[in-house]
Amino acid sequence: MISGPQFPLPANETEVSFRPGTAAAAELSKALEQREVVDIPTVIGGKRYYSNDTVEVRAPHDTQRVLARIHRPTESQIGEAIKSSASVAKEWASLTHASRATILHRAADIVATRSRMRINAATMLGQSKTIDQAEPDSACELIDFLRFNAYNAQRVYAEQPMSVPTAVNRADWRPLEGFVYAASPFNFTAIGANLTTAPAVMGNTVLWKPSEKSALANWIFYEALEEAGLPPGVINFVPGDAELTTRVALSSPDLAGIHFTGSSAVFQSLWKGVASKVDSFRTIPRLVGETGGKDFVLAHPSANASEIAIALIRGAFEYQGQKCSAASRAYIPRSLWTAVSQEMRDRLAQLKVGDVAQFDTFMGAVISQASHQKLSRVLAAAREDASVKIVSGGKTWSEPGYFVEPTVLEVSDPKHALMKEELFGPVLSVFVYDDANWEETLQLIDSTSPYALTGSIFCTDRFALHRAEQVLINAAGNLYLNDKPTGAMIGQQPFGGGRASGTNDKAGSYLNLLRWASPRVVKETYLPPRDWQFGA
Ligand code: NAD
Repeated sequence: MISGPQFPLPANETEVSFRPGTAAAAELSKALEQREVVDIPTVIGGKRYYSNDTVEVRAPHDTQRVLARIHRPTESQIGEAIKSSASVAKEWASLTHASRATILHRAADIVATRSRMRINAATMLGQSKTIDQAEPDSACELIDFLRFNAYNAQRVYAEQPMSVPTAVNRADWRPLEGFVYAASPFNFTAIGANLTTAPAVMGNTVLWKPSEKSALANWIFYEALEEAGLPPGVINFVPGDAELTTRVALSSPDLAGIHFTGSSAVFQSLWKGVASKVDSFRTIPRLVGETGGKDFVLAHPSANASEIAIALIRGAFEYQGQKCSAASRAYIPRSLWTAVSQEMRDRLAQLKVGDVAQFDTFMGAVISQASHQKLSRVLAAAREDASVKIVSGGKTWSEPGYFVEPTVLEVSDPKHALMKEELFGPVLSVFVYDDANWEETLQLIDSTSPYALTGSIFCTDRFALHRAEQVLINAAGNLYLNDKPTGAMIGQQPFGGGRASGTNDKAGSYLNLLRWASPRVVKETYLPPRDWQFGA
């Protein structure tokens, strides 16, 4: 319901500077040195549960360092969490928008102030992010999601059908009938905040299963929500085994929606799971998933070589390439390749890979042993492959953590798996095209990979740029012109892609919030029916 105060359009949260010598840098260093092992409970109906079934969270760049212990819920506790949601659902839905929005605003302020260093430190240590990557994620984007979701919900509620002199019409913006299952990925702390609060601000209750790999930072956010006054049971925190939690969620007739971000394969398995028992649910579940990418950078011969090289380094290697939007395939004209590749080699040689607690580190470790092993295999195969040339990097090492050198591969076959498949690591594959083949290259980009998340075009020729935008209309949900393909800002570039990259419901925008509402439209006439004959 919309009533009470109206909130103004928020501004994006400003990044704090952590330059050496600042008070912020000193405070963050202190938080990073903290050696307490945090016990992360399951929270159901406001009660914390600790179990013997625990999983350790370790720093990917320093695998000896234990940061936390996750206390996994049992199967029956996951069922209890669903029941607890149901018991509070009506009361939560009956609150005004302002009451719910206020909780999000308060949580945003807690993260912006007293939890900021803790959540940044947890994101840096738990997910191996440098501060240059953590602050925009676990502080700024997370805060933006909360404030913009609160604001955008108000825009949804304001949308009403027209009334006429003989009748008044209205839309009751009801939440879905049942609970929303939110399963969040490891790579952005902010995403966990969005997957939960977007449905919640629209009046839904949520079963939240965070990724085990980001559970520490996600837990700190959950504590902020509790402190902000989130009523018990509205969002239950269930850091359980992924398959078990999903099985229990999908076996409930009250499952009303899934809010997912993660790999395409897992989202497709969730979709199939729902489809196979669609007649068992009280309401047809809404499925919202933002998934993988094989994001392209296309350079036109008119582009500037240095700008391309820097965009590729930042787009492909920030956060070790573990962004869904990371540049992972590039198409560079032969006339520019010598200059672009030389500049990349020179700059990559200066780039520091290592401990994220040192503020001049550019890249930390990849998230897990499994990811490290996969990337090591891919790079070993690339070394043996006659159609692949290693332009830069290629090494991996596993002491003291899961490190992979930023790697540029020149691939002579444009349909090579390296140009198609998401690797989710610091590996950029480049195809060098003949300058005369601009048109063919556009078709190639559009048809090579199943994904369509982000893309960049570097081009100063307006006609060529226009043509590329047209041919690549379905190749990306977020397209960047003369910029790297990463770094979308809430409110500025609503995020999401099509094809195998997801349902493109644009996280952080009102379009996403529409998925968490099921409007009832009410007509009240001033002229009740009085005669059964037409035209009477
Ligand atoms: P993931 O698919 O492994 O995990 C995502 C969530 O699903 C986690 O909570 C995980 O525990 C759960 N999960 C894993 N296996 C499951 C299973 N078999 N059944 C049910 N649930 C399961 O993804 P990740 O490694 O955490 O994140 C990386 C992926 O996420 C990449 O593919 C990346 O492109 C994608 N991503 C996409 C976006 C976007 O906006 N499009 C944003 C961030 C990440």
